Amino acid sequence: MLEHIPGDWAHTFTRRPKVLIADDQPINVRALHALFKDDCDVFMATSGAQTIELCHKVMPDLILLDVVMDGMDGHEVCRRLKADPLTHTIPIIFVTAQTNEADEEYGLSLGAVDFITKPVKPAIVRARVRAHLSLKMQGDVLRSIALVDGLTGVGNRRKFEEDFDASWRHCLRESAPLSLVMVDVDYFKRYNDRYGHQAGDRCLQTVAKRLTETLRRPYDTVGRYGGEEFACLLPNTPLEAATRLAMRMEEAVRALKLEHLDSGCAETVTISAGVATLLPTDDSQPAELIDAADRQLYEAKHAGRGRVASPMRMMEG
Ligand code: GH3
Ligand code: MG
Ligand code: MG
Repeated sequence: MLEHIPGDWAHTFTRRPKVLIADDQPINVRALHALFKDDCDVFMATSGAQTIELCHKVMPDLILLDVVMDGMDGHEVCRRLKADPLTHTIPIIFVTAQTNEADEEYGLSLGAVDFITKPVKPAIVRARVRAHLSLKMQGDVLRSIALVDGLTGVGNRRKFEEDFDASWRHCLRESAPLSLVMVDVDYFKRYNDRYGHQAGDRCLQTVAKRLTETLRRPYDTVGRYGGEEFACLLPNTPLEAATRLAMRMEEAVRALKLEHLDSGCAETVTISAGVATLLPTDDSQPAELIDAADRQLYEAKHAGRGRVASPMRMMEG
């Protein structure tokens, strides 16, 4: 039966898609699992709560979601996943024995992309799942392009805003400190004036690459905050570790030995960095962390540039 389905999954996708099947009847889960196990990484949940938990853990590319489940039903699961910025782009297909139009309309109004009735017809489920997976993965590619800075290849300002929001909420949940390092290239206007704008562009590319290489942990990110300014976000990182990382960044850029004879503080390109750390709480605002890091950056500039300022102490490069 299945061999009559046109199209080769392997050529449709750039990587193996992840499909989450949620149904409180193990027999239904098994039937759907058999349909997708050869082409996809299949994950299975048998309750609403488990579906949401697994979603955060594996970030599936598509969810086949039973409507009627004990406890949290499929509608509520869908509502929650669509309300969460981390999961709202995951397409959800409702799979249900109910066939009336009002139910279907209601499911779609909650943000589901499609509706499949039980008992499922294998060829139809596979064709629909493939179509939605293809759209999802194209969307992922477009989203990732939209978040990259065209000049330096690091995340752009929009990506920083997204990462910042996600890191803030993560650290709030975990009662963990969130650190931010604001980095600014020193006397960069003079660099452009002396070496030309294109050399300036190349300098920014080199600095961005070096800053990225300095990171050690998977969740640490460097983004281009604007012009010649970069923001480095460090979740679960206390002030001392963030300050040490900022110092490594300052040293790493200095070690590039990029000539900058008009710099007022060295003969090579240097950066100034400001460090701040906050334990997110319900009463604190994300903007406070940015303000605090900005103030430290100002201190580093004011004290002579080519150095790191942190509430711990001032460190000359
Ligand atoms: P300070 O040490 O106080 O940071 O001095 P600065 O000259 O680096 O700071 P200022 O803000 O006066 O100038 C920043 C310069 O960065 C001016 C701007 O032309 C340059 N710049 C911003 N974005 C780019 C870019 O994408 N490419 C190039 N080549 N230059 C850029
Ligand atoms: Mg500057
Ligand atoms: Mg600047």
